[in-house]
Amino acid sequence: MRVTTAFKRLLHLDGVNVTAVVFGINVVTVDVALKRRRLVCPHCGHETRFRYDTRPSPSSWRHLDLGVWRVHIRATLRRLCCPTHGVVVEAVPFARPGAHLTSDFDDLLAWLATRMDKTSVARLCRVSWRTVGRACERVVATELDPHRLDGLFRIGVDEISWRRHHKYLTLVIDHDRGCVVWGAKGKDSATLDEFFTELGTERSKQLEAVSLDLGPAFIKSVKADGHAPNAVICADPFHVVKLVGDALDEVRRDLWQQLRRLPDDRWAKDFKGARWALLKNPDDLTDTQAAQLAKIRRTRGGIWRAYEMKEQFRAIFAGDLTRDEAAELLDRWCARAQRSRLAPFIKSAKTMRHRRDLILNAIEHGISNGRVEGLNTKVRLITRRAYGFHSADAALALVMLGAGPIHLKLPHERTTVPTA
Ligand SMILES: [Zn+2]
Repeated sequence: MRVTTAFKRLLHLDGVNVTAVVFGINVVTVDVALKRRRLVCPHCGHETRFRYDTRPSPSSWRHLDLGVWRVHIRATLRRLCCPTHGVVVEAVPFARPGAHLTSDFDDLLAWLATRMDKTSVARLCRVSWRTVGRACERVVATELDPHRLDGLFRIGVDEISWRRHHKYLTLVIDHDRGCVVWGAKGKDSATLDEFFTELGTERSKQLEAVSLDLGPAFIKSVKADGHAPNAVICADPFHVVKLVGDALDEVRRDLWQQLRRLPDDRWAKDFKGARWALLKNPDDLTDTQAAQLAKIRRTRGGIWRAYEMKEQFRAIFAGDLTRDEAAELLDRWCARAQRSRLAPFIKSAKTMRHRRDLILNAIEHGISNGRVEGLNTKVRLITRRAYGFHSADAALALVMLGAGPIHLKLPHERTTVPTA
């Protein structure tokens, strides 16, 4: 078998013939020629037989490694004159427009970025994190489900910060499918207005419920003329439950400060590290954390009452309660918190009374905490990884890859390897 034939089979690239193989230092450069005669516009697919000119120097793309070898694909491309896009370099079947990586390599990087930390991806694939960001953007641009804004009934709007609270993304979540369907940088009402513009009048009318974290910006946009005329506004259960979690954490911190000042440090030692035992869901506790929680229960102090109230509050959102049942539990909870003599809980009882209707709307429309918690956790985890990106587009692309309507396949899952 000739070396060019062997490489054609090994690389398994669509629509090309291998014309030469050159071994360099750590790099194999594979020269290819496109099989098709016609030139194709990379932006719109317009085809023509007429070439404008041929590029003076060849283009190259990084492909998947072969063992320890980096592989570069090299081809001399022509330019065409597209009626819409003017003079452009022709598209190649194995890479996305403007990329210096093949689609296979793009897909691998995007897949890894949602599952692996920054340093590992960069080291394994020998690329910079910026390159990973651009690969993510390209994959999202071509692979996102084009019908993702169809059939939306119950949505949630959420803002999330990346790069340590300096920059924000606004995300729209489909509660029914449990994924992020839209995102943009920014966190004001104009940002969310863009979503409603894209959604259009007809699809907006279908919206039955919109959950919000209740910042004034998003409410303004949702209530704007024609944006969601038939939708009920609900409190976002994740944020509401988180408020109570924060109140519990405040009680814990106060107690910790008191214990630390005691002459006998035994109490402080015992209480150290109780944070996760208190804040995690009881089902997710490790054995040590469960033991620590049991110890706290035996004290019967304010911290235990705070913990009980957190769990009672979570229960309101966890089950399939009717509006009336939930209302009764919520009112009872507020009364208990009010009497608790714990300042953070007295404050949150006030907030909950203030938002009572919106909370009950969420429960009535089946937007439970269980539904949103998993997705929120996933989104927050992946946003943390996006800290390394400097561009909001890359951060957003990573969120969409990790939590959006994309079924990303790895190169070997997409193609069947031909028999030799
Ligand atoms: Zn075009």
